[in-house]
Amino acid sequence: MNRFEGKVIIVTGAGSGLGQAATLQIAKEGAKLVLVDLNQAGLDETKKKVQEVAPNAETLLVTANVATESEVENFVNQTVEKFGKIDGFFNNAGIEGKQNLTGDYGIEEFHKVISVNLNGVFYGMKYVLKVMKEQGYGSIVNTASVGGIRGVGNQSGYAASKHGVVGLTRNSAIEYGQYGISIKAIAPGAIMTPMVEGSLRQMGGDNWEEVGKEFVKPNPMRRFGKPEEVGYLVAFLLSNEADFINAAVIPIDGGQSYKY
Ligand code: NAD
Repeated sequence: MNRFEGKVIIVTGAGSGLGQAATLQIAKEGAKLVLVDLNQAGLDETKKKVQEVAPNAETLLVTANVATESEVENFVNQTVEKFGKIDGFFNNAGIEGKQNLTGDYGIEEFHKVISVNLNGVFYGMKYVLKVMKEQGYGSIVNTASVGGIRGVGNQSGYAASKHGVVGLTRNSAIEYGQYGISIKAIAPGAIMTPMVEGSLRQMGGDNWEEVGKEFVKPNPMRRFGKPEEVGYLVAFLLSNEADFINAAVIPIDGGQSYKY
């Protein structure tokens, strides 16, 4: 498939996990890529992998903190300067934060998680939507989480931020559909990325792999998701095939969020 031939796609959190997996899928299908991350080494690794699967792919790497508005404005401006348009935006960078009860949840920690996961997603939409509205087309996929549609526990900052991402998605989708722009969110369950490894380490320390096996037992599919499975979904949602999917929040979690 070549759904992204000639298309310009921005991915935040492109240096690892779900952002990297989506980048590789989109690169294989011909996209010009703007890869954004706080972590330069992660971006370099993703670029190397892109070159392996799509040697001719044009890439722009931008080291930026999505929690800082001016840095978001800057990567959007750089995209337009280099490529002249934005077809798709995977608004994905995020952090998990510490796990503990709400009464013990640190105020600083709460603000930090909100500033990356919620403010960051808002800034991204604010600046990308200005460009897309002018163009009269575009597609945005925001990364929420199962923690944005269900109560998971021990994750006050994360839950608040991801429920916020769902709210922003629905609100802006209703506003911008008339301009030819679709906005959707994905709600991944536990997908085996460095973030989830970190989460399991918070629960089980060096015993994290055993903890992981226990953790996935209640999942209907009895396993973690794979980053590339999310990559396939994101590629579809960013492509023109998904233009009429708007304001939707799509779980990718083996069915876990529907279980009771
Ligand atoms: P990850 O830690 O592997 O990758 C996240 C990337 O985002 C990293 O490269 C990191 O450097 C970057 N990043 C973090 N803070 C940033 C900031 N302020 N500015 C720019 N870049 C920043 O994690 P992942 O599992 O790939 O997570 C990606 C997204 O998916 C996150 O929003 C996360 O909340 C969400 N998510 C993940 C899972 C899962 O199971 N892996 C489940 C639900 C939702």
